[in-house]
Amino acid sequence: MRFVEREEWGAPAASPAAYLAKARGVKVHYLGTEYTSRAHPLCDDVVRSIRASHLANVAEGYVDIAYTALVCEHGAVFEGRGTHKRPGANGSAVLNTTDYAVCALLGSEGMTVPTDPMLNGLVDAVEWLRRSGDAGDWVGGHRDGYATECPGDALYAWIERGAGRPEVARPRPVPPGAYAVRLHDTLAAVARRLDVDWRDLAAVNGLRPPYTIYPGQILHLPRTPDRVAVPFPGSGAFLLGRAHPAVLTLDEGLIEKGFTRHHDGNGYQRGPVFSEFTRRNVADFQRSHAALRGNPDGIPGPVTWQLLLT
Ligand SMILES: [Zn+2]
Ligand SMILES: [Zn+2]
Repeated sequence: MRFVEREEWGAPAASPAAYLAKARGVKVHYLGTEYTSRAHPLCDDVVRSIRASHLANVAEGYVDIAYTALVCEHGAVFEGRGTHKRPGANGSAVLNTTDYAVCALLGSEGMTVPTDPMLNGLVDAVEWLRRSGDAGDWVGGHRDGYATECPGDALYAWIERGAGRPEVARPRPVPPGAYAVRLHDTLAAVARRLDVDWRDLAAVNGLRPPYTIYPGQILHLPRTPDRVAVPFPGSGAFLLGRAHPAVLTLDEGLIEKGFTRHHDGNGYQRGPVFSEFTRRNVADFQRSHAALRGNPDGIPGPVTWQLLLT
């Protein structure tokens, strides 16, 4: 479990909320507002701002953030009121003494579908409350016994399926001409990395504003125009660990010809950096060609370049 204690995200160490000896179980919540995917270093800002808005809510008279814990899209569990503290989010005094309240940082607009790491984080939070907070086995949604949309249809469907861990996340195979979104990728960052127009990328994948993408999501690439003969850029373009636009062209050839078995675990992806994976894939290609077999060093020369790109 990736656990972020109160003091780590900027709350006083102990919650002033009332004592709770035990609970029937856990109610799952969502934010119910527009929410967009973001990089993890920005998640604690969200948690702090939720606490600030709860403290400012005069009508409810909250003494602290209302949730027992919060779980971000990256799977981190932020300690809210914590164990053995009565939550304030379930809708009534009775409901708040019955169950703990765990909130997923998920919206009713924008990012509305939980990521696999988020589901794992929710299970982590439930297990932690059973272990350390005397919570029973029951897991439900805010809408159970209270009139609300919370926690949204996607999370509620997961609760109805048993609120279990998603299948062990394995790197999905990335088909040629596609890209697996990484943890902190934005659409703009992916487009830059692949040297394509972000609007084309959005159109090919049917994305609409706010163009939210998720870690692990497979994005199909816009078709690149048929290549005309590209002149060999010179061996200075292929220095290990260095970026050069010609590497993007080299990668197209490798992917098209199927020399992609060396990669970082996420599938071989097009990118401007001449990496050790690129070099090994080029070496595979060289070994496969009689004309190149003599020196399969993985560094493209004019003949490798020409054979790979025709
Ligand atoms: Zn709720
Ligand atoms: Zn996060």
